[in-house]
Amino acid sequence: MKKKYLLTPGPSPVPAEVLAKEGMPIMHHRTSEFSEMFKRVEENLKEVYATKNDVLIIASSGTGAMEAAVFNTLSSNSKSVVCETGVFGARWSQIIKSAGLESLVLAEEYGDPVNLATLKKTLSENNGVTAVFGTLTETSTGVVNDIQAMVEIAHEYGAILVMDAISGIGGQEFLMDEWGVDVVVAGSQKGLMIPPGLAFISLNERAWELAAQSDLPKFYFDLKKYRSKVAAGQTPFTPPVSLIAGLDESLKMITQEGIQNVWQRHQKMAVATRAAVQALGLELFSSQPCDVVTAIKVPLGIDGGKIVKILREKYGVSIAGGQLSMKGKIFRIAHMGYMERFDLIIGITAIEMVLKELGVDIELGKGVSVAEKHVLGW
Ligand SMILES: *Cc1c(COP(=O)(O)O)cnc(C)c1O
Repeated sequence: MKKKYLLTPGPSPVPAEVLAKEGMPIMHHRTSEFSEMFKRVEENLKEVYATKNDVLIIASSGTGAMEAAVFNTLSSNSKSVVCETGVFGARWSQIIKSAGLESLVLAEEYGDPVNLATLKKTLSENNGVTAVFGTLTETSTGVVNDIQAMVEIAHEYGAILVMDAISGIGGQEFLMDEWGVDVVVAGSQKGLMIPPGLAFISLNERAWELAAQSDLPKFYFDLKKYRSKVAAGQTPFTPPVSLIAGLDESLKMITQEGIQNVWQRHQKMAVATRAAVQALGLELFSSQPCDVVTAIKVPLGIDGGKIVKILREKYGVSIAGGQLSMKGKIFRIAHMGYMERFDLIIGITAIEMVLKELGVDIELGKGVSVAEKHVLGW
């Protein structure tokens, strides 16, 4: 027998209660039964986003909502700035390019957050930037960016801030309205505790004004269509009703715990994870670590790919390796969504065992004992 443990930063584990709801017979979507559920989901999503704006639901992975953000807020004459702190920040530039537009890219060394002084300088030297694109928690590096400061700078120069919060929503503290973020994108398979397949996007009034003028081509991802159906508890195209039924359940769990408590749980998990790996003599990859995933440097002389492979194949524990330029150099362990203290204990134990097996000079139990001290009494 081999039990599997999913500790990756998306997809993340799904609670049994949610899976049970997803296994229910399919309901037709043009019914009051569906609309009632959809409206409840909508209300709870607003609570999670901390916004009064509509949170639109799209059947796609998170990237679909990123594409929607670009094609709905920009126009063929728009200038934009992309703050790239990792692989997902770079995706913004790729999408903007696919729209036939150029963007000014502010790329940080991976592991570091957005340099606010550079952002300010760039906007002061380039007039008429429509939008600044950024990432809340850069899953590829484990960095969290200072969104409040980014909003302030973007607004000072008349630009909106478009935020990829795909891995951050439902984990990292985030207040859309209070912080004044104009467009926020999320996904289903990270903090929201349901399988991959849904994306979310919310625009404030200022972003909707840009959407009204946007002349870029779109059909399925035309957000005006989604917005016009929200009040009726409907979507413009057939929604994945099973995923929405699962979301209804997961949002009930999140709102019952209370979004503030959810953020706190993630923060405590992150602090304990960092302390445990550092006790093992390992180094963190990011200089400003987030609460949803921890990126760890692979010890010198060790093949990082092997860590991930042995963990998955021999121990049944899935964590993530590094992407693109970070391949083999880092590994990443999630504390995201439906995870709690014993997921953390399993993760740290497994990492200790695999490192020992690969010949790294560590003391077995040293990380776990630190983790245990952290979680004792939660
Ligand atoms: C996972 C992730 C994405 C990509 O989402 P998909 O659902 O794979 O399209 C984008 N940005 C961030 C920060 C992510 O964590």
